[in-house]
Amino acid sequence: MRTVHADVVIVGAGGAGLRAAIAVAQSDPKLRVALVSKVYPMRSHTVAAEGGAAGVIKSPDTLDAHFNDTVSGGDWLCDQDAVERFVEQAPKALRQLEHWGCPWNRDDAGAVQVRSFGGMKHQRTWFAADKSGFHILHTLFQTSQQFPSIQRFDEVFALDLLCADGAVGGITALHMQSGEPIVFLASSVIIATGGAGRVFPFTTNGAIKTGDGMAMAYRAGVPLKDIEFVQYHPTGLPGTGILITEGARGEGGLLVNKDGYRYLQDYNLGPPEPHPRPKAMELGPRDRLSQSFWHEQRKGRTIKSEFGDVVHLDIRHLGEKVIDERLPMVRELARAYVGVDPVYAPIPVRPVVHYTMGGIDTNIDAATRINGLYAAGECACVSINGANRLGSNSLTEILVFGEHAGLQAAQHARASKQHDEAAWEPAIAESFAAVRAVLERPKSSETIVGLRTELHDLMESAAGIYREEALLRDACKKVAALRQRYRTLSIDDHSMVFNTQLFQALELGAMLDVGEAMVHAALARRESRGAHQRLDFPERDDQQFLHHSLVHYGGEQPPSISTKPVTITRSQPAARVYGGAAT
Ligand SMILES: Cc1cc2nc3c(=O)[nH]c(=O)nc-3n(C[C@H](O)[C@H](O)[C@H](O)COP(=O)(O)OP(=O)(O)OC[C@H]3O[C@@H](n4cnc5c(N)ncnc54)[C@H](O)[C@@H]3O)c2cc1C
Repeated sequence: MRTVHADVVIVGAGGAGLRAAIAVAQSDPKLRVALVSKVYPMRSHTVAAEGGAAGVIKSPDTLDAHFNDTVSGGDWLCDQDAVERFVEQAPKALRQLEHWGCPWNRDDAGAVQVRSFGGMKHQRTWFAADKSGFHILHTLFQTSQQFPSIQRFDEVFALDLLCADGAVGGITALHMQSGEPIVFLASSVIIATGGAGRVFPFTTNGAIKTGDGMAMAYRAGVPLKDIEFVQYHPTGLPGTGILITEGARGEGGLLVNKDGYRYLQDYNLGPPEPHPRPKAMELGPRDRLSQSFWHEQRKGRTIKSEFGDVVHLDIRHLGEKVIDERLPMVRELARAYVGVDPVYAPIPVRPVVHYTMGGIDTNIDAATRINGLYAAGECACVSINGANRLGSNSLTEILVFGEHAGLQAAQHARASKQHDEAAWEPAIAESFAAVRAVLERPKSSETIVGLRTELHDLMESAAGIYREEALLRDACKKVAALRQRYRTLSIDDHSMVFNTQLFQALELGAMLDVGEAMVHAALARRESRGAHQRLDFPERDDQQFLHHSLVHYGGEQPPSISTKPVTITRSQPAARVYGGAAT
């Protein structure tokens, strides 16, 4: 066993983790940062982001407008103090990236260009063609390499947090190539492990997004907040779930049904308005667009395909030049994965699980209730996304709150004394013993694929676009049974070298924990808000449910649920209006 001593351990080297690492290093070069990632940093999911990052850049847009779009888009479940901080710091965060070398698209005069995005009433999404995430991650990665105090541990799998007396002291981990156990000791730990889309079968999320960090914090006693809110993106490619960016609609793409009809005009993408304005249509928010697909499907107006029902996303009218300049990856993906060249034919698409609004409960400073433990990025719920995230807010979120987490963790590390190493021995032994139990368990009938498939089927049927009491109740029981059966799971590979089966088994454990939290929270929220739609409770109920849900880990028992007030500073809950076309 190897022990690494650091001041700040960061789990996750995606956008949030790298941004946090840079913030620690810039604030104090003497602090030792251990940056732990189960994949090489550039393979983190941030790399897959296409559309862009939101931040106010020019009039007529204003910080107030960004605030209002975010709060109403989140169906008033966002903490408004966090949203205020977010919109204020967004432009600076994006400019900072520019100074570090991020190649944002520019107009002929040399100014940064912005594009429209769903639910945003002004153009404010900065983009680098449709490879924004790649350029952002590359910029952060190369910048992080300037700082000798950041030591990377690539392909190291984090297992558990070390916590005692309400404070964190580090993590346990495995070196994936050799299987060697590693203990990282530090007085500050930042979790930046991304989302948990893989809890569902059909998702845009990379295979690594299994909610490991959420489960680590949850098991250690930090509740998962608003975890019932799972975003469906309306335009995934059938079969693979690969995303076709909202940027395609931002540039003017149309959604049509089997009759070539723009069906979104039939749906209430916002209540009737006193003054008729053009409908938001394709630029409505993601929750509403995905729900419209569900209704269209029930009316028999979707298109049958080998991989289920689809509708068509038509961008032909943009022309080859615009498509190649602004949406080259959309063309590449459509050709490669569905054999369609969007210059000449519409792209088949269907809703797909995309983003977890909920996550590790933090305060506005990215701090959790465990002293020294912080979380940022998609794994965290700070919360600026409320019940429904607006596209392009999260790439900015990882920058703004990644930096915050780094600064807070640095300050905490400077002020703390590290625990006596020996005090952690029992927790360390327990963590590695759990891994050995999976490795050494005699052959049983439970397999990773078997349990994962059952979890997927449950989540899709009970916790998909629409939910209802009976199915959720049943899912709570069934997922508890799956967790029970997981304890007897065996694997065939007993070696220590690149044992991918072992890591899949550990990821499955995290998915079961997070999935269980999702169905329990969805059952408890008897209203419809944002991405959480109950067929049996179709209205938003501010009297009873204008609060965050907190799901607490119950070990072998079912989780328990408590609530936390939503911070409202200046926007009182109102109806969500999407009458105005994005300009
Ligand atoms: C296809 C796609 C397109 C998107 N497009 C946009 C967009 O245009 N605009 C927008 O705002 N948002 C977009 N999003 C959302 C946004 O990209 C993500 O929310 C954001 O990038 C998450 O960043 P992160 O740093 O929190 O996590 P990630 O980038 O997912 O990084 C997670 C890190 O945690 C590490 N990790 C996880 N578990 C472990 C473990 N057990 N041990 C060690 N390390 C671990 C991983 O190795 C990785 O380094 C998109 C998402 C997807 C899936």
